Amino acid sequence: MTDPAPTTTLTAVPPDPAEAANAARPAGLETDELPPSLAAYRMEYRSNVIGRYYNGFAHLAFVVAGSSAVIVLALSQVSNPTWLDWLCVPVTFVLANFVEYFGHRGPMHKHVHRLGLMFHRHTHEHHRFFTDEWMTCRSQRDFKIVLFPAIMLLFYLGIVAFPIGLGLYLFHTRNTACFYVATATFYFMSYEVLHFCYHLDESSFVARLPVIRALRAHHRMHHRHSLMSKYNFNITWPIADFFFGTIYREGRPDGK
Ligand SMILES: [Zn+2]
Ligand SMILES: [Zn+2]
Repeated sequence: MTDPAPTTTLTAVPPDPAEAANAARPAGLETDELPPSLAAYRMEYRSNVIGRYYNGFAHLAFVVAGSSAVIVLALSQVSNPTWLDWLCVPVTFVLANFVEYFGHRGPMHKHVHRLGLMFHRHTHEHHRFFTDEWMTCRSQRDFKIVLFPAIMLLFYLGIVAFPIGLGLYLFHTRNTACFYVATATFYFMSYEVLHFCYHLDESSFVARLPVIRALRAHHRMHHRHSLMSKYNFNITWPIADFFFGTIYREGRPDGK
């Protein structure tokens, strides 16, 4: 089976005088009208991709409620954990951070056979819908282009969290398995929720929280088209970005 051909490409965007005019505007402030080409793309995406009955709040609630239920259930099965069982939490967290990094730097930004849909959805759609200057969802319907499809939670649990958890249960301890499943699921949820927060209105209460503001700035630089395939691949905490030296510092020559 071949991957579906992208319907749009970043290079297809014609130069737009309005975009050049907006370049001088302080980044992140969306008080002005969108550049016409971006407004047209967003309108096209909303009418072609976002279903009539889509509800962004329900989508977000499904991810948070579904993940939380799995986390609570997994933790409820832990009893008398040893320090070795607890160690599973930071180890899983850091490993997940590196998986996030390579997943984003790899198939989400490079066309990989059989994973072309990830590349198309992320590079061609998400990065075109939101640029470093235009990061904000205009309504709950725009959550669709930020969050993974809802079914991803079930795939993640079925392919990543539960099989590895089962292996830990069979070959190690039940506590380790439960801590692993809870941490891996928490990581998935935090990815979704943090990324969602970065694309909220910058003046909202959540976006103004210092930690969200700092992480949002990291992600906003990644949304600059000239930087997106080189820097700031962590969506959550920039641990792997720090490790691999891919945190963008303002003023680097390749940042324009
Ligand atoms: Zn984003
Ligand atoms: Zn990206």
